[in-house]
Amino acid sequence: MADLSEPSRSIGRVESDKLRIASTRAELSTALASRSATAATVALVPTMGALHDGHAALLDEARRRAEFVVASIFVNPLQFAPTEDLSRYPRALADDLALCAQHGVDLVFAPVVEEMYPDGAPEVTVEPGRVGAILEGASRPGHFRGVLTVVAKLLNLVRADVAVFGEKDYQQLVLIRRMVQDLSLPVEIVGAPTVRDPDGLALSSRNRYLSPEQRVAALALSRALLQGRAAGPAGAAGILAAANDVLAAAQGIDVDYLALRSTDLTTDARAPDAPAGEARLLVAARVGTTRLIDNVAVTVGSGNELPAVS
Ligand code: AMP
Repeated sequence: MADLSEPSRSIGRVESDKLRIASTRAELSTALASRSATAATVALVPTMGALHDGHAALLDEARRRAEFVVASIFVNPLQFAPTEDLSRYPRALADDLALCAQHGVDLVFAPVVEEMYPDGAPEVTVEPGRVGAILEGASRPGHFRGVLTVVAKLLNLVRADVAVFGEKDYQQLVLIRRMVQDLSLPVEIVGAPTVRDPDGLALSSRNRYLSPEQRVAALALSRALLQGRAAGPAGAAGILAAANDVLAAAQGIDVDYLALRSTDLTTDARAPDAPAGEARLLVAARVGTTRLIDNVAVTVGSGNELPAVS
């Protein structure tokens, strides 16, 4: 696990008549207990901050689903390997609070690391199982153990009825649903579609690391996924070939994986017994030192049909 210490920070002034900010578990508890009696249901949107329109869409979805919306902002060291970008992960708390206020958030929980892990790294963690060991889990060992552990803690601390997560991190969403099912956690998990820039690039806090040239190179990811999706009628091999063609021709990206899997990610969609129908096409690549991920839903045809012209 990465070093648990974090840079110091300050919370800027927020112009909002209703947004409350809790930085300790005690403040969180007090704020939850003192909410209006009419605010019965609580929705949680967990984030690592550096918020953008993708996060805003999750906040809006939460607003539609519950009377009291909590956003957490916590860069979780448990999900970063020592070699990863924990210390340089973008932090923009004042802007984040302004975005939360604009999107009708009632309460922001923004704890420091010591508040979440008062005894250091936890002894007991959530084991993500087989789906946690493939794709992102293969490239980032321990990542999903850290994610599931912090999400379980946040769900417990906030006592959320509903929690909203983005399809942008599709494998994370699948694993959180599985955790909730396997551990019988009393919360409804809602997935929200990926928000993209008009040119197709999936919004990500890490996009701010990209130079203008790297941002152009990064567009190959979404282009490859769209080409793959358009080749759906050609079957699994045709989808992967179409997406691969785009990635192979792209400059300035170093592909980690391109995978076509069942929607629950348990099976490779190229397996001989894999059923035709809904599947997920996922990609990860490094652009310079920045690791980007993206995915789309695809419909896998039998392979005898002609691909759609895109
Ligand atoms: P993060 O702050 O990157 O940990 O993300 C917090 C939540 O926002 C996760 O549920 C992400 O899947 C979601 N998210 C991040 N980017 C996007 C996006 N472009 N569209 C929709 N949701 C997103």
